[in-house]
Amino acid sequence: MHWAYKIANELIEKYPNKETYVCASGISPSGSVHIGNFREIITTYFVVKALNNLGKKTRFIFSWDDFDRFRKVPATIHPTYHHFIGKAYSNIPDPFGCHSTFAEHFEKEFEKSLSELGIEVEFIYQSKEYKSGRYNEDIIHAIEKRKEIYDILMKFKTSVPNEQERNDFYPITLYCENCEKDDPSITQYNHESKTLDYSCRCGFSNQLSIEVANNIKLNWKIDWAMRWMKEDVVFEPGGRDHSSETGSYTVSKEIAKAIFDFDAPHYTPYEFIGIKGQNQKMSSSSGNLITPAELMEIYLPEVILFMFAKYKPTAAFNIGLDEDVIKNYSEFERYQSHYIDQTLLDLDICQSVEFAHIGKIDKKYPKFNHVASILPLVNYNVALLKDIFINNGETFSFIEIEKISQLAEYWIKKYNPQKNIMINQKQAIEFYHSLTEEQQFWLKNLCDYLLNNEPQDQTELMKQLYSICNHDDKKIMKANQKTFFTMIYRLVLNRTSGPPIPLLFQVVNKNQLIHLLNFNES
Ligand SMILES: [Zn+2]
Repeated sequence: MHWAYKIANELIEKYPNKETYVCASGISPSGSVHIGNFREIITTYFVVKALNNLGKKTRFIFSWDDFDRFRKVPATIHPTYHHFIGKAYSNIPDPFGCHSTFAEHFEKEFEKSLSELGIEVEFIYQSKEYKSGRYNEDIIHAIEKRKEIYDILMKFKTSVPNEQERNDFYPITLYCENCEKDDPSITQYNHESKTLDYSCRCGFSNQLSIEVANNIKLNWKIDWAMRWMKEDVVFEPGGRDHSSETGSYTVSKEIAKAIFDFDAPHYTPYEFIGIKGQNQKMSSSSGNLITPAELMEIYLPEVILFMFAKYKPTAAFNIGLDEDVIKNYSEFERYQSHYIDQTLLDLDICQSVEFAHIGKIDKKYPKFNHVASILPLVNYNVALLKDIFINNGETFSFIEIEKISQLAEYWIKKYNPQKNIMINQKQAIEFYHSLTEEQQFWLKNLCDYLLNNEPQDQTELMKQLYSICNHDDKKIMKANQKTFFTMIYRLVLNRTSGPPIPLLFQVVNKNQLIHLLNFNES
């Protein structure tokens, strides 16, 4: 059974009478959401889909933790932004000037990618929720229970609790009304009036009525627990770093029960995602990160969804930007064809194919590998490529060919320039002389055939090629075919591989082709 169905079944068993299954995920907009963070939402997405397919009503929420404090300037942003450290993400200007806040810039960037992937989700902006006063009663409750919270937190720490620290502990972040930073020290809480006295490093001090305040946020592990209770969450995944014995989930779980009388949701830890084919390690602070938007410049949405569906959340995997792109596309294309032909027997893979598609499952695109191997040879001319496919008996619409061509072109030019292959201008004389007499004879036969025939039909051409290098021993015949094709690629492209031979012969102008293959006249 697919992992998402397994989780869905566990949820149904654990909460048999739930009318709506609330599944949650959340990310801080601390910079561009990269493909590692992306697993947070996609894990939830598949569980939601599985619940829906099992006939359950769901609510799929995604929290933007934009009331968190800005703690570090990402490498892609001007260093002057360190002035804003300590303010909430939603209270900082957009460094790119196109949105109203820092948070909104990165939120919209990611929301656009989700929409292009066909993932629909209910966004909750925590700044808005906190500022609206929706949580104020819960903030008061947490402040009144602050010593109990302190004791729970200390159980998971190595430092020794002390009474002074316990008395001064407040499980909140208070943003100063003057400088908007989280610099205030709380000097007193008044239980009767529900007010806080604070003084800030900037020199400002005030008494704040918590019932109407819009500048207080619960600290992370308390915040997480409170929001589970508030939204009645039954499922939420979390990164491996949150999942250890002393990690956030374990702590928040205990706080949820002890302070908010709520049973923590079913939790699935997920592993990190790596990127292959890029030299540096991906991290938000280095600015060296791959966003879902960047991935969608190379991969079709369904191929991305398939990769994530195929691996269990606990399995780490690498997304390739190198030659693996071909491998990943080919694997997906193969499984998709088998699915359509109903010859795909592995249930997990079947369900992964289903999870990868938003609508109908059909083969509408040309093979990525074919497009990527021919496109540079036709100088990225999509119309020419379309003619080649038609001549080869494969019909796709211009839009479909154009889509794959755009992806392939972006990939070749940015990540795999060695795929930017060219047709040889000169004969590879030295290589020709390294061939055996028999191999030279094959070439002569091929040229004779090409000179006297117009091989339009690919079966006809392949038959001819096979007969030229034929041998009674099947094993030898196979080896001969491989050698023969490699020879052709070497002579035409100066490489050991290339597009399927019939496609190659259509791409290369016939005179040029014969010039490169025919050594009898020279
Ligand atoms: Zn201040």
